[in-house]
Amino acid sequence: MQGLVLTERIVQRIAAQGCLLVLNLGLTWYRGWREIVIYPDAFVPQRSYTDEAGVVHETRYPHLGEAWQGGPLIFSAADVAGRAGDEANVVIHEFAHKLDMLDGSANGLPPLHADMRVAAWADTFSVAYDNFCRRADLGLEGAIDAYAAESPAEFFAVLSEVFFLRPAILAQIYPPVYEQLRLFYRQDPLARSTQAFP
Ligand SMILES: [Zn+2]
Repeated sequence: MQGLVLTERIVQRIAAQGCLLVLNLGLTWYRGWREIVIYPDAFVPQRSYTDEAGVVHETRYPHLGEAWQGGPLIFSAADVAGRAGDEANVVIHEFAHKLDMLDGSANGLPPLHADMRVAAWADTFSVAYDNFCRRADLGLEGAIDAYAAESPAEFFAVLSEVFFLRPAILAQIYPPVYEQLRLFYRQDPLARSTQAFP
């Protein structure tokens, strides 16, 4: 759409990176939806929300990707291709939201496996999230995108990116979060990575 020529590279990037998350979980974890919408570049959805005082606000700001509950994933092709100097990965990010939404809402708690404990997940993530928000408030977010401070759902999605792409960083900063994600994704990217801490 919008004059976009969909290259094989873009399609393969989305497919391969989307599969990475469910490599040891199975495609049933992506059940309930089937559409991916791709814009050529960042897109600006018009949204409105009503605040506590009953005032309706219109918002328009650029998005690189979106995950809709029960609906499509939406990507900016330019961001799927990757931008120079940008370590974020919009594909892993949005697919992580899809896993989070599998039990109803994006809240940073995806459905866990039988051998995992919700209390352990919640404790681990809330301690790390509080710590990260404090660091981000001080401008000390470091190697992790400050956008992770937006909400527990964004924290899970951003940390999933770091888990797969820069596992040494996550294991160093938040080892208990790395361990919970290792149990959840049933993968150990650090063990297969030779990447050193930069
Ligand atoms: Zn997000």
